[in-house]
Amino acid sequence: MSIITTVVGSYPTHSFEAHSFNEKISESLGLFDSYKQAIIDSVHSFVKADIDIICDGQVRGDMVKIFASKINGFKIKDNTAYIKGKITPAAHPISVKDFQLAFKTAKSLDNKFKLNATLDDIFNHESKGVKGILTGPTTLTHSSMIENFYNHRENAIYDIARALLVEAKELENAGACAIQIDEPFISTGAEDITVSKTAVEIISEELDIPVILHVCGDLENVMQDLLEFNVNILDFEFSGMPQNIGTLKKNWKSGCDKNIGIGCVNTKLTAVDNKEDVRETVKNVKDIIKYDNIIIDPDCGMRMLEEDISQGKLNLLKEIKEEGI
Ligand SMILES: [Zn+2]
Repeated sequence: MSIITTVVGSYPTHSFEAHSFNEKISESLGLFDSYKQAIIDSVHSFVKADIDIICDGQVRGDMVKIFASKINGFKIKDNTAYIKGKITPAAHPISVKDFQLAFKTAKSLDNKFKLNATLDDIFNHESKGVKGILTGPTTLTHSSMIENFYNHRENAIYDIARALLVEAKELENAGACAIQIDEPFISTGAEDITVSKTAVEIISEELDIPVILHVCGDLENVMQDLLEFNVNILDFEFSGMPQNIGTLKKNWKSGCDKNIGIGCVNTKLTAVDNKEDVRETVKNVKDIIKYDNIIIDPDCGMRMLEEDISQGKLNLLKEIKEEGI
């Protein structure tokens, strides 16, 4: 059996101020990037916890604004995203530079990090990789106010999917080992799930690398449909949402070709989890899916947690990986 670890997305950060003479000059020219250090620090935490598939820490603003501020057709006003016109892809890659910084930083700390690492090599513990993360089309649309141009919300969702596909391709070409699509809104039932599925597949079916779909929340009403989405890995929260274990059990069919990312540390809990609880969660899910290769991660992003608590939660994943279940 092989256990690998990953992170869901956002990692705690504080913005960094310009300190050195060079940074201050850059700042005066509007060139100082206060988030670079946050990316580097997040990657240090991930590598310290021996995470196999890392990301850039998603430190740049919230998951909606990262994309809504760059994709054409959106406007951000008073912290709210508005859809003002026809959605078309961003003029430049949105997260490729951050991906590259994350990779460079990880590689300098651990030589196992490779561009284009395959999932097989990661499961064999021969390589580690960096994934790209997109906020999904359903979530971006439902987090925005549609002001004009779109009479039907589903058309906005499909155009956003096409814009995100361009970004996903850029990340794939840059050497991402996988693309994760974050769709917290799917579990709310706010959108017709066939629309959400079509939109996710506009992205996933055009990519050659594995696609991970992360949906948090209670999945009782959507699990059956989610298991039919054309993605490689479905990533769910099972620790803070233990009822998802029963829901998975009810809907899982042996022979299902998807792996399940097992969210097993509770990201709403502001203390480091009890290791035996984490192990129990992993065991319970593994008993259902019966895979030899399993992927464990935190339930969701960890932005709201203190840095030492986040590190403690990641370290638990490392211990479970080393000790097994
Ligand atoms: Zn989540």
